[in-house]
Amino acid sequence: MRDIEASTCVQFVPYSSEKFQSYIHIIPDTGCYSLVGEQGGVQVVSLGQGCLFKGIVEHEFLHTLGLWHEQSREDRDKYVQILWHNIQLGMEDQFARYRGDTLNETYDYESVMHYSNTAFSRNGKPTIVPKERGKGMSMGQRYRLSNQDKTKIRKMYGCQGLNSSSKHASYNFIILFIMCIICFYCY
Ligand code: ZN
Repeated sequence: MRDIEASTCVQFVPYSSEKFQSYIHIIPDTGCYSLVGEQGGVQVVSLGQGCLFKGIVEHEFLHTLGLWHEQSREDRDKYVQILWHNIQLGMEDQFARYRGDTLNETYDYESVMHYSNTAFSRNGKPTIVPKERGKGMSMGQRYRLSNQDKTKIRKMYGCQGLNSSSKHASYNFIILFIMCIICFYCY
C-alpha cells in the first residue's frame, strides 16, 4: 500500500463513517481477491493465507483501484496467444477479454496485473505465450508495480494535476466504466 502511495497520488487512510461512503475492508478469507473498481459501501479485499507478499497485495489493491488483469485487455490477442487446450477445464473464463479503457498505455507484459505463462495450466504447459519477440520474460511477476501500472493509476486518479477536482472526476470515471467482477484466482 505504501508503494502505491509513494508512486501515485492515491492515499489509503483510516475509515471514518463521517467522511467516506465507500471503504475497503480487508479480511483473511480463503485466497486473494478483490472486486474491480469502487462498488459503493463496504468493499472486501481478501488477503488470506499465501497472499501476504508485496506483489500479490499490490495486485489486489490495483483491482480495487480499478485495474483489470492485463491479459484481459480487448486488444490482447495482438500481444499474447492464449493456449486454450492447456487451460484447466472450467477455468477458461479467467482468460476472457473485457472492453475497457487502456488509458492509452501500450500492452504491459511486466504488469503486476499480468498472469504468468502457466496460469491455470492443466498439464504444466504454457497457457499464455507472448507474440512479440524478446518480450514477456517477466510475465506474471509479483514483485513490484511496473512503471505502467503506476502510470495507469496516476491517469485514472488524475495524479498529474494533483487537485481534488481531477481526483473526483477520475473516481466518477471508474464508477461509470469499470464493471463489477470477482477475481477469485489472483495469484
Ligand atoms: Zn487478479
